Amino acid sequence: MHQRSAHRSLLVIGSVALDDIDGPFGMHRDLLGGSASFIARAASYFTKHVAVVAVIGDDFPKRHIDELSALGVDTSGIERRKGESFHWVGKYAPDLSTRETLDTRLGVFAEFQPKVSEAQRDAQLVLLGNIDPVLQLDVLKQLRAPALVAMDTMNLWINIKRDDLAKTIAKIHTLMINDEEARLLAEEHNLRKAAAKILKMGPTSVIIKRGDAGALLFHGGGAFAAPAMPLSDVVDPTGAGDSFAGGLMGYLAYAGDLSPSTIRTAMIMGSVMGSFAVEKFSVDGIRNLTVQRIQQRFDELSELAHFERVRL
Ligand code: AMP
Repeated sequence: MHQRSAHRSLLVIGSVALDDIDGPFGMHRDLLGGSASFIARAASYFTKHVAVVAVIGDDFPKRHIDELSALGVDTSGIERRKGESFHWVGKYAPDLSTRETLDTRLGVFAEFQPKVSEAQRDAQLVLLGNIDPVLQLDVLKQLRAPALVAMDTMNLWINIKRDDLAKTIAKIHTLMINDEEARLLAEEHNLRKAAAKILKMGPTSVIIKRGDAGALLFHGGGAFAAPAMPLSDVVDPTGAGDSFAGGLMGYLAYAGDLSPSTIRTAMIMGSVMGSFAVEKFSVDGIRNLTVQRIQQRFDELSELAHFERVRL
């Protein structure tokens, strides 16, 4: 896929973090995590024009950034500051279907003021990964005329910064959140109604991620469902949503257009990348993939969901 690299560039803002993950497979400490780590890596399979804006502390292992740079990702916007890196501690239920946040240590994120470089201001595709909505808005203000701005968020921000979040959501095109967050944000249990309420907040489309139930896209023109790959080995769901987002936006950059059919394919590519992410801890599931493996899983998903129209 690298040969047909797109002319569109993808700018990613998000967390670059260290995670401690507890769950049925034991406690794993100091794993590479953060929304931007998953997004940029997943997107790098589709385009060589990915740039990241983030902050790390002076405790952050240099090898993680070097690895991202080696994939062709522009890491010049990852600022290293004196202090502790963003650290997230999460615990999964035995069936991996739910998780709770045990600790969020903002560290250097508390003082972070994202700076978009002159060249990055022209980015066509922008993914505001899950971070403080005030920072997301700050980045938005620095952009010139992006063709598509998508953003993710989480329950923490819905709970503690609802007003700031609403201001950011009003300015973007696509909101990507999980089902639980959509319900919390819209104060509505039914997902179709929740999506309709979210669309009234400003975005032109909303993507609701539902873990192993797949993802739903709602927009003015209707809805589209991307299935999730049924997997036999799921180890760590952390970063599945971000890998989905990275695959989706990376594919849009690769395809170079935003037609409805390209967006549907991008949803499937998101599902493919999310499926790889959950098979291993940290970014390991989306490390060292080949175009052939991505293509094979895409084809399997296409086969899985394919059906003919009938006339009754
Ligand atoms: P996901 O599983 O796709 O929702 O994303 C998991 C990643 O989000 C983890 O690697 C965490 O480091 C990161 N994360 C968790 N909480 C926050 C937060 N409040 N702000 C930014 N990133 C976070």
